[in-house]
Amino acid sequence: MISVDNRPVHAVPRNEDFTVEAYRDLLRLCLSSYSPASYGCIPWGERFVLWRHDCDYSLNRALAVGRAEHEEGLRSTFFVNLHSEFYNLLERGQIEILNRLLAFGHDVGLHFDAAFHSTRSEEELHDQVDREAGLLEHFLGRRPAAFSFHNPTAFHLSCESDRYGGLVNCYSRRFKTEVPYCSDSNGYWRFRRLAEVLNDASDPCLQILTHPGWWQSRAMPPRQRVFRCAFGRARATMRLYDDALEQWDRENFAGTATSIRFLRSIDFKTFETLDYLWNGRRFASLFLELSRLHETQLWRICEAILGRQWRLPAAEVSALLDHVGVELDVLRVFESVGGKSWLQAEPEDDEMRRKWSMVRYRLAHGLPAPADDALEAGCVELCRRVESLAAWGRRESIGFDGLGLREAVSAPSDVTPTRHSGEDRAAHDGGEPAATARGSLEDLRTYLEGFISGEALGERTSSQGPRRQRRP
Ligand SMILES: [Zn+2]
Repeated sequence: MISVDNRPVHAVPRNEDFTVEAYRDLLRLCLSSYSPASYGCIPWGERFVLWRHDCDYSLNRALAVGRAEHEEGLRSTFFVNLHSEFYNLLERGQIEILNRLLAFGHDVGLHFDAAFHSTRSEEELHDQVDREAGLLEHFLGRRPAAFSFHNPTAFHLSCESDRYGGLVNCYSRRFKTEVPYCSDSNGYWRFRRLAEVLNDASDPCLQILTHPGWWQSRAMPPRQRVFRCAFGRARATMRLYDDALEQWDRENFAGTATSIRFLRSIDFKTFETLDYLWNGRRFASLFLELSRLHETQLWRICEAILGRQWRLPAAEVSALLDHVGVELDVLRVFESVGGKSWLQAEPEDDEMRRKWSMVRYRLAHGLPAPADDALEAGCVELCRRVESLAAWGRRESIGFDGLGLREAVSAPSDVTPTRHSGEDRAAHDGGEPAATARGSLEDLRTYLEGFISGEALGERTSSQGPRRQRRP
């Protein structure tokens, strides 16, 4: 039932099988036919299930499946690897996870990393398993009852005694010949699909192997599941570093990437993405992302002004901006809606804006672009613009930086739209005239519609960046 040359029968993964919700169904199905057993006390001759987990990628996922099992009433064994490339078993947070699994009533076993040891004989295997079991016992206060091989070679699989180092061998001859087996190795059902095995329930007893990393909250391909485990951990490690320096009130020198730090407390996800690009020196992608962030910010502030100061209902704001259908110069729209105070406060001149606008155009269209050093300087510049616009937005009566939650920008839905000029409205609302002094809504409509007809393109001055094409 277990051999190195078994051929897969399901080469196509069924991603929808591997969610925690689907997992719960399997647990219920299993418990309706089999009694859970532990490796320390196997009721040979009875109808039992040994449900085990080889923790290859993530102990966090182990906790998620362990909790589901606890809630459904199944006890299982989590085999952990002292030499994992994906987690550090002796780290405080990971030991805490193991203690929580033990508190749920689960067992912990040893996932013996065969590749780490150049085992040449069964005597050596005895010693190696015994030593690693001793380490686990030292840190968990409980000696594991069983071990399983991680990436076993033909030699390891030829070691078929019931026990090594005093631990039950999950790959013993007895298991291979007497206990039918079902595994989710590699994120798909290599031999039999577990749901079918459990529905059928014809096996007198079962050893089920599931790897926690394969079971996620939503369906996704196997590589994406491993990606989530690996990068989730890397991100947590960087958070730990940044938080620790902040907590100890130490300088966190990050070179030019310091420019993006202001975003960390505003939009952490975006900060993480940009920080990743920056530290990976992927400046072309970073420049485009920062440009997009800045433009999004300008649009969102325009929306906020139209909603909050011009008192336009959200649906009308969307209609106004969505129906345009051409690539506008957002700075010019911003100027029409928000006035010039931010632009005037900007130390950057028109020539500089035009230069960076051209760089963006070239990057977006795959044309020769400046070298990394110049792009890095551009990224610093873009960060400064985003940060200064955010500060401006917070100072204005809209009190919005263009970066936070979208729900924050719209006017109440029962507001009746008005049609008088921005200056009149500012006086009427008691708002700041500077933000709405740029003419009426009708002027804005005319301006936007001018883009549709192409008239506005002809009006553009040299200060407005490269000419943009109408979308087909
Ligand atoms: Zn493994």
